[in-house]
Amino acid sequence: MTFNDTVMKMKIDHEVVWKECLQIIKKNVPFLTFNTWFLPIKPVELVSTTLKIQVPNNFFVEWIEEHYNTLIHNTINQVLGPEGKLAYIIVEEKEEVFEPEPAIIAKPVPVKVENVPENIFPPKPEIKQQIQEDFENYLNSKYRFENFIKGENNQLARAAAVAISENPGATSFNPLFIYGGVGLGKTHLMQAIGNKILDNHPEKRIIYLSSDIFTVEFVEAIQNNTVNEFSNFYKSMDVLIIDDIQFLIGKEKTQDLFFHIFNALHQSGKQIILSSDKPPKELAGLKERLVSRFQWGLTTDIQPPDFETRVAILKNKSESYGINLSRDILEFIAHNITSNIRELEGCLIKLLANASLSSQEISLEMAKKTVKEISTSREVNISIDYITKNVCEFYGVEENKVREKNRKKEVVLARQMAMYLSKKLTKSSLKTIGLHFGGRDHSTVIHAYNSIEKLINTDESVKDAVKS
Ligand code: ADP
Ligand code: MG
Repeated sequence: MTFNDTVMKMKIDHEVVWKECLQIIKKNVPFLTFNTWFLPIKPVELVSTTLKIQVPNNFFVEWIEEHYNTLIHNTINQVLGPEGKLAYIIVEEKEEVFEPEPAIIAKPVPVKVENVPENIFPPKPEIKQQIQEDFENYLNSKYRFENFIKGENNQLARAAAVAISENPGATSFNPLFIYGGVGLGKTHLMQAIGNKILDNHPEKRIIYLSSDIFTVEFVEAIQNNTVNEFSNFYKSMDVLIIDDIQFLIGKEKTQDLFFHIFNALHQSGKQIILSSDKPPKELAGLKERLVSRFQWGLTTDIQPPDFETRVAILKNKSESYGINLSRDILEFIAHNITSNIRELEGCLIKLLANASLSSQEISLEMAKKTVKEISTSREVNISIDYITKNVCEFYGVEENKVREKNRKKEVVLARQMAMYLSKKLTKSSLKTIGLHFGGRDHSTVIHAYNSIEKLINTDESVKDAVKS
């Protein structure tokens, strides 16, 4: 046998082995699962009785091992004999650099792989001319995978999002349901999926919108007698991305319509991506049939970022503004602002503003001052009493007057303003706000709110007062 024959034989062997494995696996798993999880796997090499297979990311290995551990190990034993073993090679996709270094993890036996063949890397996508769509898709091109920092907090959600963006509608993540608190990156990730799909397939019909906008449009459609057109429009999408689905709570008619759109899209293999502040089963007020459909695909959360991820995000953001912050500044901010990424960004912007206003270089001192400013404004935001105190000072009215039944013009104005701001700036219910102002009932608070809204639009001095 010549050297070339040997090479040929080796090449055929691992492919033949994997092909046989696939035939067995195909008979034992659902069609979509097979397409999503097993088809993308590529056999790389057969070394003795160990078959090395290449998977796109760690998430694949975890998922397969968790759900199909027995099947895959039985299969390999059936094909390669009792000594048969599998080794996973993870070749992570990288967005900017197209020469990924293979990260290697091996199960069940550690095998080190050198010289991963070149052709296993995905080809560089061509940049295509974007086709002008006949509708507004509300995709913001600034949200991309390239500027979405990967962390333990978003690992699963991000991996699923990448998988979907490469194969919309054809993975078992349909719908993809991402949940988590505010400012943690849900919108960014969903938008990144849309942008990526559009890059690769400019002809695809993709739309992003928040569920409250969906509701408003639906109400308009009812008024204009165009519900059919409205429904058909959404049913014509290849990818439907609906953000903050919790706003559908309590809106029964909208839920019903959405249910039909969801079914139509899902049945024809179109991709649906949803987000919410809570997991589906905690969305009390959402019809059961919707909740159950939301769980058909993959439900995954995004957690608050850990310290390292916060530093990485800050570093990335500041560099995108053309600024190099020193390590101690980055770490100081990341240590002190921990709850969400929107706040981290806010702090960075404030720091830049402070620096340019005072024409000084950014220093650790300045960072400390900025963080302090942000923390105080966060604390005062929540207190009705703090609002009342400041409003009364502003109007020169004694604080206890606004809590009494005083009908003097300036007291009424101060009281209404304090109620208005309490509603705007705190999460307190109308009832709670009413109680803070001498036990007035909720309709008084609504009346105050509406009066100030009206005044803001007509009276410049009130507008200025609100601003300050
Ligand atoms: P959510 O929709 O969960 O409330 P957003 O997607 O609006 O949060 O994120 C808030 C801000 O933080 C956005 O400006 C977004 O770009 C940024 N952000 C969130 N997660 C990341 C991340 N992992 N890497 C970089 N920026 C992020
Ligand atoms: Mg959002």
